[in-house]
Amino acid sequence: MIKIPKKQLYKIGIFFTLSFLYFLLVAFFLIKFNPLFVILIFFIPLVLIIFLCWQRYFHKRIDLSLKVQKLQERINIIKNELEKNSKIFSVLNEHIKHYQSLKVLIESINSQLNFERQINILMEAVFNLIAIGKGNCLLYLVDPHTQKLNLFATYKEDPSVIIKAKEGDIFDWWVIKHNCPLLVEDVKKDFRFDLDKIDKEFLRSIGSLIISPLVSNEKILGLIRLDHPQSYFYEQTDLRLLVTISDFSGVALENTKLFEETQQLAIRDSLTGCYTKGYLLERIKEEFSFAIAKNIPLSLLMIDIDHFKRYNDTFGHIAGDIVLKQIGELIMRYFEGYQAMTFRFGGEEFCVLLPSTSKEVAVRLAEGLRKAVEKEEFLLRQKKTSVTISIGVACAPLDTILQDEFIKKADLFLYQAKMKGRNRVCYS
Ligand code: GH3
Ligand code: MG
Ligand code: MG
Repeated sequence: MIKIPKKQLYKIGIFFTLSFLYFLLVAFFLIKFNPLFVILIFFIPLVLIIFLCWQRYFHKRIDLSLKVQKLQERINIIKNELEKNSKIFSVLNEHIKHYQSLKVLIESINSQLNFERQINILMEAVFNLIAIGKGNCLLYLVDPHTQKLNLFATYKEDPSVIIKAKEGDIFDWWVIKHNCPLLVEDVKKDFRFDLDKIDKEFLRSIGSLIISPLVSNEKILGLIRLDHPQSYFYEQTDLRLLVTISDFSGVALENTKLFEETQQLAIRDSLTGCYTKGYLLERIKEEFSFAIAKNIPLSLLMIDIDHFKRYNDTFGHIAGDIVLKQIGELIMRYFEGYQAMTFRFGGEEFCVLLPSTSKEVAVRLAEGLRKAVEKEEFLLRQKKTSVTISIGVACAPLDTILQDEFIKKADLFLYQAKMKGRNRVCYS
């Protein structure tokens, strides 16, 4: 049911009452007076009143339609503003997402102190953030000696793509030469680069690319590059993001490199270049528990130079040092290609830790090393000298399942080798 407001009801009541009284008056006058006189007195003012009312109504209508138009205009303006704001909002949202990803990336890169793992994090982030999982992401490092680029890591959408330009191409060299980022929207149309200069065997389908140098302390460490077979795939905003990432990554990578170098210095013996005894104990802890848990053999060679005191007494301490250095290098060279770690245990004693190596293999390797040392010549004041070594071989879990006994066992077998006349390998 339609509800009429009280005020309106009141007005309608008055209107009908007045109309009723008016017609009563007209009827009365019609009876009493001349009809022409009645028309003159009543109908002309009535027509006038109706005319005035109609005019008022007409003006009101015009007013209202103007108001409606204005409102419509305001609605349109608000709609436009809303559209604009929602666009700005989505752009800002996109920026916030990027900044959040950047924040996570900065945190994970800075918390990682392993160079290779740090680079993996960086490549994955760049590939997913800018390339949206498409194209190729390459990381080149500058060789500090030759100043040439070396391909260090790749991240590819299509695993069958082979990157043959291991030392970079004209685009990478341009970045190194100018030390600034590069955006090539369409490789074929960019007048700066002559594609004929690219070696044919290095050619692969590239439409567009972006490259940013990795810089730390004004020194170029390398560069990070994204390329895609489609032209106009990358734009200025992508390059800007890549530059932001490479700017902070350059410093983080340099710090990690320095950290790793310092760590290497701390765990390497300064005379022989072998790992230190402290590092051996650390490694044994890890490798031993892994070997026992997985039931994988772990072998240890305890090596001692025979009659080294005599050698020192005969040729002097400096000559002894030269021999120690040469033997250290010989052992490391001998185990190259094996999963082995060489340590200077102290004085004229060395250790070799051989993960996943059975006793038979370890004994065979020890015998080979003993022979190699026996054959080695040490030139002292144009005089050829030689030394021999004795080796004790222990293998876990065969000889012991107790970590504390592992070194002791190898030492015991070494002692047996000494007792049996030196220059030999002993094991259980
Ligand atoms: P063995 O065959 O029983 O091992 O006899 P050895 O003379 O080698 O053993 P010993 O333990 O009696 O002597 C070890 C010698 O190693 C004593 C020391 O002069 C020498 N030595 C230890 N560290 C160094 C070093 O850093 N430089 C030099 N030149 N000699 C060292
Ligand atoms: Mg000794
Ligand atoms: Mg000795």
